[in-house]
Amino acid sequence: MERILIEDAKKRLGEQVRISGWVNRTRDIGSLKFVVLRDLSGDIQITVKPDNPVSQILTDLKLGREDVVEITGRVEASQIAHARVEVLPESLKLLNRSKQPLPLDVSGNTKAELDTRLNFRFLDFRTPRTSSIFKIQHVILSSFREFLTNKGFMEIQPPCIIASASEGGAELFKIPYFEKEAYLAQSPQLYKQMCAISFEKVFMVVPIWRAEKFNTPTHLNEVRQMDVEQAFADDEAVMKLLEEALVHIIKNVKEKNSKELQILGRNIEIPKTPLRRLTYTDAVELLTSRGEEFRWGDDFSKPQEKMIAEMVKDEAFFIKNWPSDQKAFYAMPYKDNPNIVHAFDLLYNGIEISSGTQRIHLPELLVERLKIKGLNPDDFSHYVECFSYGAPPHSGWSIGLERLTMTITGMNNIRECCMFPRDRDRLVP
Ligand code: ATP
Ligand code: MG
Repeated sequence: MERILIEDAKKRLGEQVRISGWVNRTRDIGSLKFVVLRDLSGDIQITVKPDNPVSQILTDLKLGREDVVEITGRVEASQIAHARVEVLPESLKLLNRSKQPLPLDVSGNTKAELDTRLNFRFLDFRTPRTSSIFKIQHVILSSFREFLTNKGFMEIQPPCIIASASEGGAELFKIPYFEKEAYLAQSPQLYKQMCAISFEKVFMVVPIWRAEKFNTPTHLNEVRQMDVEQAFADDEAVMKLLEEALVHIIKNVKEKNSKELQILGRNIEIPKTPLRRLTYTDAVELLTSRGEEFRWGDDFSKPQEKMIAEMVKDEAFFIKNWPSDQKAFYAMPYKDNPNIVHAFDLLYNGIEISSGTQRIHLPELLVERLKIKGLNPDDFSHYVECFSYGAPPHSGWSIGLERLTMTITGMNNIRECCMFPRDRDRLVP
């Protein structure tokens, strides 16, 4: 008999099934013994009557939480089991023992510190809360890929080891590379542009690294980014694509993860498009109208981002037309005011989840902007060269996967939304 999932077994009333999983808990009330067995799909009560030979097996085995067992038996309707269905076992085989006591309560009833949970992440994955977060993350990722594939985008694979900084400025992790030095990419920027100016519409899901000594609930040192780059598109075109992608993702999560959202106590609304497009200057005015000290040209702090979002009230909105000082050298400046660039951030539930720009596709303008930023164009000659052989205008954006998971699931700490987070203090597991 082939193993089937518990949720499928529940539908097979009167039939013989083989199921396997982890022991959630056991109970012995003298005449009857119970085991609650859990697999990836759900859990079910195994009811063992005194005359059942499995009763003796249970007495001998003394099963503990998280022991792994395989059971064959008949599925029956039940008056007492909370799923109204139980399994009357014919055989029970121990596949592996779990050490006791467990370092954390897998049922999730006793809350453990985040640090303990991250140390024993594989066990934490088995708790209803954490498993819900990653089931939602899976739907976010698959919806992202589905949305772009259906729009004719091609998935690309940029390298993660790079020879030089793609943006200049930001801190990079340096690594030895044979006789040379190399860096971990802080963005797939150059590569996605090289692909877009040839393949037109590309997307990617890639890890990136930022070597800043962050100590915030919203920053990791290793991030997964969901990136898009599109040729023959300006900033407005890719903003439209971004809001559609966000709506598609949220719709899918709402539909496919209703059980997980319920476990997390989370109710999410589908944002209405087109989203509001606030200019950077509008956002500054909102802040200063609240008596907040702010100099035009600075970046918003995370609390200021939150404050703007509270005043705007929409769960998702753009801030566009940023001062060029706040954005990378490759952001396209406005013709009539080069201090402002075609750049945007997308805020969702008060947190930046995505940034994008229209890129400069003109080599001479790129060189000019590099100089204005105090960068040496010779260091970027390879990058600039790409745009000398028929580069169409192009734009793109990047969503942080963990940030989006965090804002969808309502978590306060981004570490909750990364399977194995890398931060200033954590490199294991
Ligand atoms: P922030 O201003 O929030 O620190 P950023 O503007 O430096 O982020 P971008 O270069 O715009 O980040 O990266 C695109 C997206 O990647 C961000 O909008 C965010 O969702 C995600 N991201 C960037 N850096 C981090 C980080 N250190 N930790 C988690 N997510 C990040
Ligand atoms: Mg940004």
